[in-house]
This record gives sequence, structure tokens and C-alpha cells, in this order.
Amino acid sequence: MILDVTTEAIVLDKEDLGECDTRIFLYTKDFGKVMAKATSSRKITSKLAAHLEPLSYITARLISKGDSVFDARGYQVADALLIGESVNWKGEEQKLENALKVSYFISRAVPDGVTDRDLWDFLMRVSVNKDDISVKDTLDFLGLGKEHASCEICSSSDTEYFYPKNNSFVCRGCVSAAPAYKKEFIKLN
Ligand SMILES: [Zn+2]
Repeated sequence: MILDVTTEAIVLDKEDLGECDTRIFLYTKDFGKVMAKATSSRKITSKLAAHLEPLSYITARLISKGDSVFDARGYQVADALLIGESVNWKGEEQKLENALKVSYFISRAVPDGVTDRDLWDFLMRVSVNKDDISVKDTLDFLGLGKEHASCEICSSSDTEYFYPKNNSFVCRGCVSAAPAYKKEFIKLN
């Protein structure tokens, strides 16, 4: 069965996959976080690619060969269109940098396919309203406040990274000691 859905979404991050594919991390209003492939988005349909920049607020049409919309694997972005005008961050570079850190953090830290309207509203504040929101605010919002957190491995209080697989914090020293896994940790500041 082929699934074909259209939903409002905020682009969280994108990652190049080889020559012509891009992996897009979306937070959708209806299905929560979704990872989807945009084939040839850089090569052929540059117009599509322009609407898939991080922090874009879009209408996305997603198709999937899976039979459940909650199975986050195997999505493809069939179409993407900006909603409203593209947000202008000119002169607000610091805020933009924070917003990109927040959207990257959410793209990696939040599980796929869980609909959460509060998180949707939070992301709208970050990407469309341009509220000044830090990764720390995001941790607090998600109930992962790091005030009392210590490194999962050595108990150091210098927690610079987050490990989304078990919602724990790790210090720089312990992350450096395991370079092969570095990609799985999210830098917090
Ligand atoms: Zn440590």
C-alpha cells in the first residue's frame, strides 16, 4: 500500500546522502518527527530544495511504501511549499544560530512518529515567531533539564553532550575517549 499524506511541517535539519539524495528531518504537525528522503533535491528540483532549508515552515507531501503512517521509515518528500513568506533573520544572526541548534537538537533527540502538539507549538515559536530559545530552554521544555545532571560514565558535572539513546548527559572527556561514537552525541553549546 502506498501512503500519500500532506501535513504542515517544520524542517529541522538536512543531511546529504551521496550524490543526489538528501535526508530531511521534519517535525510534522500531524505525525511528529519524520525522516524523509528528498531524491535529487539538489540536482534537479532546486525549487524543492529551497523549501527544505532548516527552520522552514512548509506544507509537505510525503509518500511512503510502508502501510502505517507511524512507521517513520521509508518516507519520501514528494513536494514541499513554504507557508507564508520566508522568515527573515537578517541582523539576528545570533538568534538564528540558536534556533538552528535547537532544531538540530530536536532532529536528533526526539523519537520518530510521536505526535506532540506542545512540541509543535514550541517549534513554531523557534522558527516562525523567532522567539529567543536556547538548547537549554529546549531541554527544560522536554523535561530533560540538565541542572542536576552529571556525566553518565564518570559522574563529572561538566556535561557538554547529550546522548539521546537513553536521555543521558556525557562530558567532553568521555566523548573524546570514544571517537567512533562521537556522531551519536549531541553537543549542547
Ligand atoms: Zn565523563
